[in-house]
Amino acid sequence: MSKNNEELFKNVVSHSKEYGFVFPSSEIYDGLSAVYDYGQLGSELKNNIKTYWWKSMVQMNENIVGIDAAIFMHPKVWKASGHVDGFADPMIDNKDSKKRYRADNLIEDKIARYAKDGKLDKAEKLQADMDAALNAEDLPKLKALIEEHEIVCPVSGTRNWTDVRQFNLMFSTQMGAMAEGSDEVYLRPETAQGIFVNFLNVQKTGRMRIPFGIAQIGKAFRNEVIARQFIMRMREFEQMEMQFFVKPGTEMEWYAHWKEARLKWHLALGTIKDKYRYHDHTKLAHYANAAVDIEFEFPFGFKEVEGIHSRTDFDLSQHEKFSGKKLQYFDTQENKNYVPYVIETSIGLDRMFLLTLCNAYEEQDLSTDEKQDSRTVLHLHPCLAPVKAAVFPLTKKDGLPEKAREIMDQLKLDFNLQYDEKDSIGKRYRRQDAIGTPVCVTVDHQTLEDNTVTIRHRDSMEQERVSATDLENIIGKMVSWKNLLS
Ligand code: ATP
Repeated sequence: MSKNNEELFKNVVSHSKEYGFVFPSSEIYDGLSAVYDYGQLGSELKNNIKTYWWKSMVQMNENIVGIDAAIFMHPKVWKASGHVDGFADPMIDNKDSKKRYRADNLIEDKIARYAKDGKLDKAEKLQADMDAALNAEDLPKLKALIEEHEIVCPVSGTRNWTDVRQFNLMFSTQMGAMAEGSDEVYLRPETAQGIFVNFLNVQKTGRMRIPFGIAQIGKAFRNEVIARQFIMRMREFEQMEMQFFVKPGTEMEWYAHWKEARLKWHLALGTIKDKYRYHDHTKLAHYANAAVDIEFEFPFGFKEVEGIHSRTDFDLSQHEKFSGKKLQYFDTQENKNYVPYVIETSIGLDRMFLLTLCNAYEEQDLSTDEKQDSRTVLHLHPCLAPVKAAVFPLTKKDGLPEKAREIMDQLKLDFNLQYDEKDSIGKRYRRQDAIGTPVCVTVDHQTLEDNTVTIRHRDSMEQERVSATDLENIIGKMVSWKNLLS
């Protein structure tokens, strides 16, 4: 990360805490590693991102429905899905610093350093050796690569490493009153399995016909070996996933459709296209026949935000095998039963949240020849902004607060608003800019005479005089989901 980007990212993180977007979990006890709480504005922003996703997936597609499955699932689900045996990362400890790392991350960092130093042959060779070791699950080989390339612990600077071990990322707990004899259950590491096990329930009760999708938003838990970059990699996070069930043989068409549709969803928010890229997987999971990541350029580089995976009939077939129940669809046109193929779209809500903040954050220099001035502004899309408008009385007297409250009362059922009468109007504007409020409405003495108010726009900082009776219409148009979804 360049110095500028490092600084920028640090500022985004502190801004998000200072203004009530994200707090470290249990902060008064010094926090809990890789767990975060969303504050008063963060939860509003998060809800707005969820609404945008849900509307675009469920409301705008007649053949997609949404569910809300439980976090706890029968332990056999995770046997069938392959998570009990295969959902692990290779980890290694440094004996001097007592720090734990993902062995593949240490090697990847070394590859990046080789590439940065122009040692491209070395970088390529190490990449190929690591891929081969990971594919063969050859843990001693990973350790040998770390030793051979003299990789040191970033904290202690030593090469005093333990062996590499596999570390399962699932959290487990006991279900039932008695610890002894109770069943071990897992906190789900992904929401997708809740969709697969409900495939028939939804298909039959909803009279769904292939192709159709089931969407879900919910918490997922992964005991990540190391957690980095704020809410980018958390141990408790939220996913927005959709499984689209299709006729075998048509999956590549639908894969192409969702690949395009999902990027379109991101770009509709007004983000410049260069900030996004597709990253096609060359190494596919054993059950997938195509996979792509949508990556965004964070201050710390391009990183995955969303995955689109063609998962074949792997999950449903595995659940047939482990449950002994048929999970098939009777295709009336074909006059036969089959296990549908699945295209999955899976986006991390917290990563989307971080993307939104990083993309919106700007420190603007507004200095003129006469005076120095600056502001921090969040250029959030009005549909996502936590507060849609702020209402200010110009002064605290002459009946202006009462008039401002009267205007608020007419609008607050439809829009999330803030009232502010403290400090100068300029300071109040700055506070709203910092949280991304698209407009501020000022009530002054003229309002008492002709019921007009001043609207000040966040991005252009321009002001206009409008009738208070038009506010509902003006704000309504600005935050309408039609701006994003039609
Ligand atoms: P990564 O390679 O970054 O670990 P992944 O490929 O394991 O991610 P998936 O299993 O495909 O991720 O999960 C789908 C989405 O869930 C990811 O694109 C990401 O946005 C989100 N996600 C996954 N793990 C985490 C995490 N620990 N914290 C926050 N979001 C996550």
